[in-house]
Amino acid sequence: TTPAKAETTYQIATDSTFPPFEFANSHNKYVGIDIDLLHAIAKDQGFKVNIKPTSFNAAVQSVQSGQMDGVIAGMSITKEREATFDFSKAYFMSGVVMAAKPNGKVTSLKQLRGKRVAVKTGTSGAQYAQSIHKKYGFKIVTFDESNDMYQDVLTGNSAATFEDSPVMKYAIRQGTKLKIYTKPALSGPYGFAVKKGHNQKLLRMFNNGLADLKANGEYARITRHYLGAKG
Ligand code: GLN
Repeated sequence: TTPAKAETTYQIATDSTFPPFEFANSHNKYVGIDIDLLHAIAKDQGFKVNIKPTSFNAAVQSVQSGQMDGVIAGMSITKEREATFDFSKAYFMSGVVMAAKPNGKVTSLKQLRGKRVAVKTGTSGAQYAQSIHKKYGFKIVTFDESNDMYQDVLTGNSAATFEDSPVMKYAIRQGTKLKIYTKPALSGPYGFAVKKGHNQKLLRMFNNGLADLKANGEYARITRHYLGAKG
């Protein structure tokens, strides 16, 4: 008899706090759509994962430097990133929205003139801010964590934040006292990423596992668990 082949363990980086995609629950267990999908895909395809939460920017860079094998962090598939990363098939649609206090003082991009906007380093929200801050005359304030940028708006230091639409909606549903005032910009899907030309087997297994989960209802079950029936 041949001994069972040991399963490869891959080192996966993620954003520390990006609910409902990744976050520590009340039992201090790492959960979320990304985390549950990755565990289910690993089980389906016969590999193991060691998940390391860090800032989004650090997660992206740790894969770029070859320190980590892959990143799943609500990471948007973009042309720029495709120069240095190979992405999986898309698994969730997103876009960047502006959120501000619900008091109605700042309800559009035009009202940001002379004010501050909180964004997270290395994200599409930050890229969006860069692309329009001259036109709308606002100053960009950067944070490593989504919670800290929400806090900066709640305290009144920043007038608004640019955040991914599903994440901002979820935070508001969980009680964050902010309101979304714009339609999603830079809309596009999330993907799992590896360093370009590296970890191709892992990428293939991710895609195969994702297809299996979509076919057997597990993908729908996981997203419904966090988002409810309407998503
Ligand atoms: N989707 C955004 C991006 O890829 C934000 C990701 C995040 O904050 N975890 O830049």
